[in-house]
Amino acid sequence: TAPARDRLRIAIQKSGRLADPARSLLAACGLSWRQSRDKLFCFGESLPVDLLLVRDDDIPGLIADGVCDLGVVGLNELDEQAKARRQLGLADAYRPLRGLGFGACRLMIAVPEDWDWQGVQMLQGKRIATSYPAILSAWLQEQGVDAQVVELSGSVEIAPKLGTAEVICDLVSSGATLAANQLKPVEVLLESEAVLAGPAHALDDARAGLMAMLLRRLDGLSKVQD
Ligand code: ATP
Ligand code: ZN
Repeated sequence: TAPARDRLRIAIQKSGRLADPARSLLAACGLSWRQSRDKLFCFGESLPVDLLLVRDDDIPGLIADGVCDLGVVGLNELDEQAKARRQLGLADAYRPLRGLGFGACRLMIAVPEDWDWQGVQMLQGKRIATSYPAILSAWLQEQGVDAQVVELSGSVEIAPKLGTAEVICDLVSSGATLAANQLKPVEVLLESEAVLAGPAHALDDARAGLMAMLLRRLDGLSKVQD
């Protein structure tokens, strides 16, 4: 069994869309850290709650491995890695605990602007580029559509221009990136926002109390903001 720990460790994005809002939210919960914005690790001062600053993609795995107890991550990323684990026959390792009200976006299918969209059957036999292969393949199966999933780690929106795929499945917020690439969004696979993620199974040492306190403070905050 894992050694008991008396400090809580929260993984947040080091830089990117979720980095500043995650920090502000945790600060609003009364947490503070020694100044070390460029470091990987921030030692908690007001409470025994430390931060690990990482790439968002690493957050679900850090929770699964027990390196971190909590993480602030997009539901898109959490859901993708949860589905990928399930497709590999692995047990669930994490779950979303709270929606955090920032980082809103949708995972969508987008097609060339000049397509006359008639419905999902138009995807039959097509190549779809995405960074979310597990969510996409589960969705295609649900829709009864047979299409080829082309996994790309970035710049998915240029795949149709490059001829790597006809269609894409990517995150959309304003739609400006799609429009700039002569694509239009047609189907929603997932409504996403940043979530506080925790382990699938409850902790059983001092961290459990810290986690409960943090969740109470978070819930108190959302009441004030509403
Ligand atoms: P990292 O270097 O940490 O891997 P990244 O480039 O993968 O960073 P960001 O672009 O900062 O990540 O996005 C982080 C999260 O922000 C996404 O996973 C998603 O939940 C959310 N998000 C909100 N709007 C958008 C958008 N328009 N495009 C991409 N992500 C968005
Ligand atoms: Zn990332």
